[in-house]
Amino acid sequence: MNLRKVRDDFLVFGAPQINNAEIEEVIASLKSGWLGTGPKVARFEADFAAYKGTAHAVAVSSCTAALHLGMLAAGLGPGDEVITTPLTFSATVNAIIHAGATPVLADVDPITQNIDPAMVESKITERTRAILPVHFAGRPCDMDSLAKIAERHGLIMIEDCAHAVEAEYKGRKAGTFGDFGCFSFYVTKNVITGEGGMVLTGSEDAAERIKILALHGMTKDAWKRFSDDGYRHYQVVELGFKYNMMDLQAAIGIHQLARVEANWARRTEIWKRYMDALSTLPIGLPAVPEADSRHAYHLFTILIDEGRAGIGRDDFLDAMTAQNIGVGVHYLSIPEHPFYRERFGWRVEDTPHAMAIGRQTVSLPLSPKLTDEDVGDVIEAVRSRVA
Ligand SMILES: *Cc1c(COP(=O)(O)O)cnc(C)c1O
Repeated sequence: MNLRKVRDDFLVFGAPQINNAEIEEVIASLKSGWLGTGPKVARFEADFAAYKGTAHAVAVSSCTAALHLGMLAAGLGPGDEVITTPLTFSATVNAIIHAGATPVLADVDPITQNIDPAMVESKITERTRAILPVHFAGRPCDMDSLAKIAERHGLIMIEDCAHAVEAEYKGRKAGTFGDFGCFSFYVTKNVITGEGGMVLTGSEDAAERIKILALHGMTKDAWKRFSDDGYRHYQVVELGFKYNMMDLQAAIGIHQLARVEANWARRTEIWKRYMDALSTLPIGLPAVPEADSRHAYHLFTILIDEGRAGIGRDDFLDAMTAQNIGVGVHYLSIPEHPFYRERFGWRVEDTPHAMAIGRQTVSLPLSPKLTDEDVGDVIEAVRSRVA
């Protein structure tokens, strides 16, 4: 066993790239005294809507909140079934449950690792109201097929774009296909605000409803309430939540978004280097992106099949950590978690492709912050264990 580490310091998985522009903007917010929801949130929403080319963008406290409010604005509730993927973060499924609806899992395609439209079709019942695809790892889902299914059955489409800020499918931007597109700005994502999220919608009424729901069900934004043109009364018109984004968070997001394309280009380079360097190893590599789509390159995931690689997935994770390389797992399939098995009676084997991927997958570091030397260290560490 090779005990020499490939590097002396630990390479943190998903480390954010924080530049001076963000630091100065946060300090300016602190000095201004305006920390909560205010002009910087409004600017971040406008910038994001412009980047995506959509009419309305509403900033919220997380993607989980974005999904929850999207579903409420879509009118989903008890008795409604929402079809989603088993290869996702628990937040996707939890948001469906929080909205009062029932999640239904449709297995993924083993190559693209995205929800398989044929499986979606097979799960449709008279209670199905919505499809909630996740553009896994940043690769856009087969939106033509999903849109056709949605149209044929009169279903709402809500896209989980937590991995997919930069993704496009046949010239159309991820998050603009469905009725709602939901984004995450959690620290490991492609654009970060620490914690944060965004809902895109083409509907002005839905955007207005989401704003109200995100702030206690109140009709007037708090920052307008306290602005210098006089006190304004607000009215609570329905039961809302505390899901608003702060200016302190938007201060980070504004400058992150300004670098989104440069950071995408850097991750594209790293992705290509991994593909070249790891192609001869006995491991599974990500599917080649479709020619007419744009991959957001959020996660670089490899598959460690013990029979082929000569090491089990969990031992490989430990080996990488021992080499000072931080790694991730995206994801154990949803039915691996006891809560969902107990609540919905799901079995892991019922979505076999997601199960197999979840038990073999490893995410390698893909932050724009990585230096060429860091990338070389990751490659050397992988090679030392599976060559
Ligand atoms: C990160 C993530 C979420 C949740 O995002 P938060 O902003 O942390 O709530 C939802 N879905 C997917 C696929 C994610 O990766």
